[in-house]
Amino acid sequence: MREILHIQGGQCGNQIGAKFWEVVCAEHGIDPTGRYTGDSELQLERVNVYYNEASGGRYVPRAVLMDLEPGTMDSVRSGLYGQIFRPDNFVFGQSGAGNNWAKGHYTEGAELIDSVLDVVRKEAENCDCLQGFQVCHSLGGGTGSGMGTLLISKIREEYPDRMMMTFSVFPSPKVSDTVVEPYNATLSVHQLVENADECMVLDNEALYDICFRTLKLTTPSFGDLNHLISATMSGVTCCLRFPGQLNSDLRKLAVNLIPFPRLHFFMVGFAPLTSRGSQQYRALTVPELTQQMWDSKNMMCAADPRHGRYLTASAMFRGKMSTKEVDDQMMNVQNKNSSYFVEWIPNNVKSTVCDIPPTGLKMASTFIGNSTSIQEMFRRVSEQFTAMFRRKAFLHWYTGEGMDEMEFTEAESNMNDLVSEYQQYQDATADEDEYEDEQAEYEEEM
Ligand code: GDP
Repeated sequence: MREILHIQGGQCGNQIGAKFWEVVCAEHGIDPTGRYTGDSELQLERVNVYYNEASGGRYVPRAVLMDLEPGTMDSVRSGLYGQIFRPDNFVFGQSGAGNNWAKGHYTEGAELIDSVLDVVRKEAENCDCLQGFQVCHSLGGGTGSGMGTLLISKIREEYPDRMMMTFSVFPSPKVSDTVVEPYNATLSVHQLVENADECMVLDNEALYDICFRTLKLTTPSFGDLNHLISATMSGVTCCLRFPGQLNSDLRKLAVNLIPFPRLHFFMVGFAPLTSRGSQQYRALTVPELTQQMWDSKNMMCAADPRHGRYLTASAMFRGKMSTKEVDDQMMNVQNKNSSYFVEWIPNNVKSTVCDIPPTGLKMASTFIGNSTSIQEMFRRVSEQFTAMFRRKAFLHWYTGEGMDEMEFTEAESNMNDLVSEYQQYQDATADEDEYEDEQAEYEEEM
C-alpha cells in the first residue's frame, strides 16, 4: 500500500476538497456513509491510496480539514458527504485570517498549526507506507495560503522524503475583489518553489474564462469554477487511484514531468468541458478528445502553450477506447507541432488509458503539461504585486503581524527568477545544435 494523505485548508481549499471527495467517492462506489455500493473490483483495488478502512467495512477518507474559522467546515460537515470524514480530523479556530497571509503563516495560523500536525501525525502513523501528501488551498487568501504553506514547510521538515503535491488556486481580479491577493499569492509561490514537489495550477482567471466563454455562464459562481476543478482533480489523480502503468504514484509523476526541480508548476487541461448539471449528449471520439485536451481554451491556467514550449507532458485518457488510437493521435499532435516541444528531452510526452471513465461521461481526458508558457501567469501576478509593492501599499497589514518587508522583496525576486528560468529553457536549444551553430560561426569567421 502506498497511501496519500489529503489536507484541505481555508475556504477555497475546503470547498474544492469537499467536491474532490464527492467525485472520488462516486467513482469508487462509496456512498455518503462510507459503505461500498459499487460494481467493479477495480474500484477497490487501490482504494487504500486515499481511504482508511474502518471497522464494519466503512471507507473513511484519509483527509485532514483545517481552517481559521468554523463556517466553511460547518458547511462541509452538513454537506452531502459531510459524515464520511473522521470527526477528529476537523481542526479549526475562530479568529479568521482576514485575507492576510501573515496571519495565516505567522500569527493566528502558527497558533493552530500544532493541532493540525497532531492529526497529520496520527494519520501518517496509521499508514503502511505513506507515499506523500496532497494539499488543497487557494493562494489569494490568508488561511489556505499562509497557513497552508506553513503546514507544507512543517511537513517537509518532518517528512523530508515524502512527496508533496498541491492543488493551488491562483487569484484573479475577475473572480475576487480583494486587492492584496497578489501579495498573498507571491508569498505563497515563494514557499511552494522550495517546499512542494509538484503543484497543479488552478488559475481562477482561466476557470472564469472557461465558464464564461466556453460554457456560456454569464455569472460564474464558485460552484461552477469548482465543478471544473473537481473534474480536473479527479483526472489528475486517476492514475494514482486505479491500477495502471503511467504515473502510478506521486514520485513517478514527478520523475516524468520535472526536468529541473524548481520548475514543478503544471498546466492542467480537461476534455470534454461540461457545466454543472449539463449532460454530454454526444460521446466524443479519441481525435476530438486529443484536440480539445491540447487546446489553450481547455487549460485551467491563463497562459497559452503556443507562447512557450513543453518541457514534458502527460495525458490520461479515461473510458473504453483503443490504446493504439490514443498513441497514434498523440504522436500526430507531436509531429504536427514539434516546435512546441523542446527537442532536447526525447519522448517527453507520455499517455495512458484508464478503463474507468469519470461518472456521467463515456470518455474523458486529462492533460498535465510542464510548459514554459506558464510564466505568463506568474508575470501577471508579479505585475500586480509590483504595482502595489513599489508604493508599499497595504504593507502595514503584514508588518503589523510582525512580518519584515525583506520577505516581500525575496518573494518578489524568487518569482521573477522562476519566470527567467522558464524563459531560459524556452530559448534553450539542444547542445548539438548549439555546437553546430558555433561551428558555423567559426567557419564564417575563417
Ligand atoms: P482563506 O479561507 O483565508 O484561505 O481564503 P479563501 O480561500 O477565501 O481565499 C480567497 C481566494 O480564494 C480568492 O482568490 C477567491 O477567489 C478564491 N476562492 C475562494 N473560494 C473559492 C472556491 O470555492 N473556488 C475557487 N475556485 N476559488 C475560491
